[in-house]
Amino acid sequence: MIIQLCGLSGAGKTTIARSVQQKASTCGIPIEIIDGDAYRESLCRDLTFSKEDRCENIRRLGFVASRLSSYGITCIISAINPYEAVRRELAMKYAQVKTVYIDCSLDELIARDTKGLYKRALLPESHPDKLNNLTGVNDPFEAPAHPDLHLQTHRNSIQTCTNTLFQFIQQAVKKQEQQYSHAASI
Ligand code: ADP
Repeated sequence: MIIQLCGLSGAGKTTIARSVQQKASTCGIPIEIIDGDAYRESLCRDLTFSKEDRCENIRRLGFVASRLSSYGITCIISAINPYEAVRRELAMKYAQVKTVYIDCSLDELIARDTKGLYKRALLPESHPDKLNNLTGVNDPFEAPAHPDLHLQTHRNSIQTCTNTLFQFIQQAVKKQEQQYSHAASI
């Protein structure tokens, strides 16, 4: 199974993915986190933050996830993943892809600003430190129209979001196993 997260920087994708991974490991569910930031330093080093490259980034992460998930490893793609078309592309191309929207209000993101990115994006145009392509501020984010799961991190705690995503994965894994055992018994 592939869980493709999407959401703005600082919304909580990495935090929730790591917390779910830890919880799942105690139940024997292997989870690999395919982290956008980490892959941008290796496999996706050549990519920029243009629309084309952001989409290509997701395609590469999706490919890696598809290889691992074919061995029964649940993969969480943790990246901003801002475009509906490429999210849909992944869901059509690979088996068992679930889209999870990690949603957070802009006010809360500006207040958190753990990486200082919002402060830079909101600087005046002429400022030398101005960031011009921060998703949700001055670069597009297409909220998913029909996510399989929608978590609001400005309303719910890390623990609650973790539990909700973990239960969602557990149920999906169980359903997948039932389908396999049914197919094997035919
Ligand atoms: P992203 O991976 O989406 O860029 P991070 O997980 O790196 O975001 O950062 C999210 C920040 O928000 C962390 O500092 C985390 O502790 C904080 N946070 C506060 N409330 C929540 C919540 N309910 N869910 C996830 N993160 C939260």
